[in-house]
Amino acid sequence: MNPPCARCGKIVYPTEKVSCLDKNWHKGCFHCEVCKMTLNMKNYKGYDKKPYCNASQREAERKRGAGSDKDYRGT
Ligand SMILES: [Zn+2]
Ligand SMILES: [Zn+2]
Repeated sequence: MNPPCARCGKIVYPTEKVSCLDKNWHKGCFHCEVCKMTLNMKNYKGYDKKPYCNASQREAERKRGAGSDKDYRGT
């Protein structure tokens, strides 16, 4: 049995499969949650069981760590 894609829910065939974060993805569906940059096994960052690029993963981590209060202040 071929597993469904974690992004689009369609069947993933072995030739287009990326297995990451305990899930299976189409190569084309394995992109950053935030900026949609296409990722691969070498450059992805797992966060919350989702794939991020390096920059977006740091951003997400910082937001969570610091809270979002500061955004109100403006300049
Ligand atoms: Zn897919
Ligand atoms: Zn990104």
